[in-house]
Amino acid sequence: MFEATKAFAEKLDQQDPLKKFKQEFYINEEQIYLDGNSLGLMSKRAEKTLHQVTDAWRTLGIDGWTGGEHPWFYMAENLGARVAGLVGGKKEEVVVTGSTTTNLHQLVSTFYKPSGTRTKILADELNFPSDIYALQSQLKLHGYDPEEHLVQVKSRDGRTISEDDLIAAMTDEIALIVLPTVLYRSGQLLDVEKLTTAAHERGILIGFDGCHSVGAIPHEFHEHGVDFAYWCHYKYVNSGPGGVAGLFVHEKHFERTPGLTGWFGSDKQKQFDMEHTFTPAEDAGAFQIGTPHVLSVAPLIGSMDLFEEAGIDQIREKSLQATAFLMFLVKEKLEDYGFEIGNPLDDERRGGHVCLEHPDAARICKSLKAHQIIPDFRAPNVIRLAPVAFYVTYTDVFHTVEVMEKIMKEELYKNYKNERGVIA
Ligand SMILES: *Cc1c(COP(=O)(O)O)cnc(C)c1O
Repeated sequence: MFEATKAFAEKLDQQDPLKKFKQEFYINEEQIYLDGNSLGLMSKRAEKTLHQVTDAWRTLGIDGWTGGEHPWFYMAENLGARVAGLVGGKKEEVVVTGSTTTNLHQLVSTFYKPSGTRTKILADELNFPSDIYALQSQLKLHGYDPEEHLVQVKSRDGRTISEDDLIAAMTDEIALIVLPTVLYRSGQLLDVEKLTTAAHERGILIGFDGCHSVGAIPHEFHEHGVDFAYWCHYKYVNSGPGGVAGLFVHEKHFERTPGLTGWFGSDKQKQFDMEHTFTPAEDAGAFQIGTPHVLSVAPLIGSMDLFEEAGIDQIREKSLQATAFLMFLVKEKLEDYGFEIGNPLDDERRGGHVCLEHPDAARICKSLKAHQIIPDFRAPNVIRLAPVAFYVTYTDVFHTVEVMEKIMKEELYKNYKNERGVIA
């Protein structure tokens, strides 16, 4: 179905229903940016809403909380209602707040209630370190030794986690399960519905980290009965470095008091009564803690316009086709150079990036950068390439593999040391 020619790549670009969105982004003309899974690029709309919010600060001062184009007091809820469209939540189930890691702390503080034999938390051995650190510290706060009480399901192949192994580990010692939707290194997409159903059949609550899927892959968190979820917006959602994160709590849990409470979780009508008795909001807004980081929320407003225009299903479709094209070209052109594809090949199990493994990955990445192609390296041997639907073309994908072929054939990577930089 694919052909390994530039003409074929150009044909795919002509047929691409999302092609008009590339001009919405600031893209260095000389570069191909394949690192949107770590930090998405700035769009003109995101820049515009950031400026609107700084303008409001300049011209309105304190009145920016309730005046101006995007009143700050309601931003977290209003945007949550929009981001809900990306994750399949009801409007009131999503709020824009905190960071990935602080939201995980909030949610574990709320949902981890060890009792009787159920005292352990189930996770996996391939999750992002910050998630694991948070779970370890939460266990310690309850007086448990993480060595014993954090159960991390092992990977059979070092890349992926088997859903059957996860389900087999859902024993009557487990109080809570926290898993990624997509594994950050291999890009494996877990079956959220199957895992949620299995957890609930065993009387266990389950939450997901959506950092590597939100903005690239549609979810049905409400429909699937997921108890809670959290994710960042600075990767596929393009909200800028340090952009404020998202949090989903299923409406069946709205009666729960948040584990970590603060005045911005108040019922909005009551917040400024300044009482010492906390009256939580009746929705996901209750899980906010303090004053929203308004300037780091602002770009998300404009970014969401683009998602609403493009539609997350269409974004997923293009992303799947672009990653499939990339894998096809790798097989055609890089077969002889020792690359292995580390991500699952099936559409149902593949996230938004391609994971290439190679012993010289660190210096191949350096050489790619010298050729104006921006990849992403994960130690010890992974090159992540994310053809983000909004701003990477099929021609970009074709050119990337051509350059990689040259780098390998001419051994240009040998000009560099095979070590990672501080940020990799
Ligand atoms: C990016 C990422 C994080 C980052 O957490 P922050 O609190 O935003 O720094 C955490 N977990 C996963 C799975 C990630 O991909």
